[in-house]
Amino acid sequence: MNNMKFATAINCMDGRVQIPVIEWLKKEYGVNYIDMVTEPGPNKILAENKDIHVLESIKRRVEISVHKHDSMIIAVVGHHDCAGNPVNKESQIVQILTAIKTIISWGINVKIIGLWVDKNWNVHEVK
Ligand SMILES: [Zn+2]
Repeated sequence: MNNMKFATAINCMDGRVQIPVIEWLKKEYGVNYIDMVTEPGPNKILAENKDIHVLESIKRRVEISVHKHDSMIIAVVGHHDCAGNPVNKESQIVQILTAIKTIISWGINVKIIGLWVDKNWNVHEVK
């Protein structure tokens, strides 16, 4: 992939959060491209860690991004007004942190961060 840098976003399928997440990762981490792995409410799916078929699908796509594109960072995203995960911000932050643990359990040796997209579509790193 030449010298282009990739990141991976496990993002909601919601069209409103695609560009904000892409722009934030490019700006904050100096990457050129973001591989998008989208599901409705992926932080919920990864935190619950029980839907085997969807989890395997996410894992397979993340591994392609990491192994074929040498992605340097994985972001797990939650956002305001999520149709697939209609719980409040506080609950979603907990889900994001739990989701990170699920990804760590896959043995993928890449930095993993959590992102929250607020009601103004601004992106914040979850600490
Ligand atoms: Zn959503």
